[in-house]
Amino acid sequence: MTTTHGPDTRTWLDPALDTEARVDALLAEMTLDDKVGQLHQVANINPGEDADDLRAGRIGSSLYASGATAGNERDEGVLAGVIDEIQELAVGGSRLGIPVLFGRDVIHGHRSVAPIPLGLAASFDPELVRQAAETAAREAVVDGIAWTFSPMLDISEEPRWGRVAESFGEAPVLASRLAAAATQGFQGDDPSQPDRLGACAKHFVGYGLSAGGRDYDTVSVGENTLRNLHLRPFRAAVESGVLSVMAAFNDVDGTPMHAHQHLLRDVLKGEWGFDGVVVADWNGIGQIVFAGVAEDDREAARLAIEAGVDLDMVSGAYLAHLGDLVRDGEVDEALVDDACRRVLRMKFRLGLFDGAAGPDSRPVGNAPTPESRALARRAGVASHVLVKNDGALPLADDASVLLTGGFVHEGDVLLGTWVLDGRAEEVVTPAAGLTERLGDRVTVDDGRFPDRTLQLARTSDVTVALVGEHPNRSGEANSVSDLRLPPGQLDHLRMLAGLRKPLVVVVYTGRPLDLTEVLDLADTVIVAWHPGIEAGSALADVLSGDASPHGRLPMTFPLSTGHIPTSTHQRPTGRLIRADVDHREGRYVDALTYPRLPFGHGLTYSTVDYGAPRVSDGELGLESATTLTVTVTNTGDRACREVVQAYFRDPVAQVTRPLVELLDWRLVDLEPGQSEDVTFEVSATAFSYFGTALTERVDEGEVLLLTGPDAATLQQVSLRVTAAEVRP
Ligand code: BGC
Repeated sequence: MTTTHGPDTRTWLDPALDTEARVDALLAEMTLDDKVGQLHQVANINPGEDADDLRAGRIGSSLYASGATAGNERDEGVLAGVIDEIQELAVGGSRLGIPVLFGRDVIHGHRSVAPIPLGLAASFDPELVRQAAETAAREAVVDGIAWTFSPMLDISEEPRWGRVAESFGEAPVLASRLAAAATQGFQGDDPSQPDRLGACAKHFVGYGLSAGGRDYDTVSVGENTLRNLHLRPFRAAVESGVLSVMAAFNDVDGTPMHAHQHLLRDVLKGEWGFDGVVVADWNGIGQIVFAGVAEDDREAARLAIEAGVDLDMVSGAYLAHLGDLVRDGEVDEALVDDACRRVLRMKFRLGLFDGAAGPDSRPVGNAPTPESRALARRAGVASHVLVKNDGALPLADDASVLLTGGFVHEGDVLLGTWVLDGRAEEVVTPAAGLTERLGDRVTVDDGRFPDRTLQLARTSDVTVALVGEHPNRSGEANSVSDLRLPPGQLDHLRMLAGLRKPLVVVVYTGRPLDLTEVLDLADTVIVAWHPGIEAGSALADVLSGDASPHGRLPMTFPLSTGHIPTSTHQRPTGRLIRADVDHREGRYVDALTYPRLPFGHGLTYSTVDYGAPRVSDGELGLESATTLTVTVTNTGDRACREVVQAYFRDPVAQVTRPLVELLDWRLVDLEPGQSEDVTFEVSATAFSYFGTALTERVDEGEVLLLTGPDAATLQQVSLRVTAAEVRP
């Protein structure tokens, strides 16, 4: 074993060699303990306290960094300075000189915070999502960050679960395309470029099914449902080259995901050929013990490495036990080699050995710029979903407006969940945005509800009430049992509605809510999610009509909490009555089962007429494609952007399939009076699914194609698939 190296003997430092050759060269020099060190991720690494471990090669990765030498890690340059000190210890001070991999949760923006992911999903705009991720990457690398734990790809039809805010909604095809777009935005074509980050598809898999919507709860699901719904966006991310995947906290049918050999090793790494890093979630390996599936950390470490978890996030179980497990013959060293190979591969792919994240190459300065603000504003507008409009919007040019409600002066609250680096003082508040646009036509309520507010509302033409949820009611560990607005808000809306003057309600939220009464009380309702740094300007754009709202709901809004689940995933039962409407016998005796607002719903300031869908060829083989066309016409008097949606239904298959499933969509800009033939190229593989043998298949037979403005307002055309295929 070589113990010291001149530059010439460290062949892995030669950027001219290909990545696998570099990994091989480095692995050949590593002891078992060196390899285990690479599989250990710490939190809040500190160049003072962790110096010995860094010199000894015992820390492969870190999330967050804190510095004894640093004051506030949010001050510009401080975090990067700490990271540089750490790299000096790891690269300059250790035997092999392996850089540390720094991760951080850059979830929906770094400084120029964009809408929460669920809001971004409402744009139905992959290019916007790509640009938002690209901007986040460019800003985050300035702080020395190389890797983000994003995008979150958990499919869920459970609005009680707080983490739906971080997701791209309930439709696998939407989440899959946005997964690819986000991955491309973070990583670009070459993640080693100094303005790119490594991405991480999380949480693999089934987390969105946590029982009762309670975070971290258990998951009972069969592999057919996993494959037909929940695995799909992860596969899309892997196909887009995502560098890492995070294991989920939950179990799947009794096996904790951090110990799930079949899904991690067989499906993700085997079947899909994923050659990147599987990172544990926070203490996820330690939690195998809490779940009662391992006796202690040592057994948990064995289960996790066997399952295919490569990098241990903070539990310390790998560092403490993997070496001994190998020496005692309980774990095959080849498993450690493979995990280490993956971590090193990721470091090479990110250019860490070539100085990619170092002080000489990374960009300087990440304060919001006019360009990053313009993008955040566009994204903010695109995430606003106008769910009801009885004509109170857009505001008339001379209308006087009262702006009231708990969010009027909010800044950081409107950034939403999982924001580590956004600054409250950089947010355009609703009061600031509206005052900038409307001048003295807007009166900003001072919050003395109800007396003064009601007086002001009486003398204003339109009242705009900002209601909804604080972000600490959504996001991780923030589930709720009641989807109605937080206490008090409905009382205020009832009083305002009692004045019988135009009432616009804007709902800030991280999840679908029970808006049933709000929709009854208000003339106009906008679901604005948590819109990010340009919250106030985006709101002003939408209210004034400077921008036409065009967002669509990426999750179904139920009639009430008791109606969950309601989503486009609903499948026919043996008591199907009519496939298109309130479709199943077995419904509640005390309520209808319709969703209150269907998936895909959203209005514009115009009206759009949909013709009947038609196909260029009613028969579809495996090699051919047919064109689905629908003519849409702007029948209103304002320009609009319409999200034209195509769905399908497979009436007979080996397994029950969704009553309707989103197939594709187009964003179409229409001038008043303009008609457009909107086309979708459809091939038979779009209908493929996993059958009883868990193999992917396309069946011969009829498929219905449906088009319309949302999942509940559809017209259909029939198509015949003339050939079948089963993939091994
Ligand atoms: C969350 C992950 C996150 C990680 C690191 C966990 O609690 O589940 O989504 O990336 O913490 O902060």
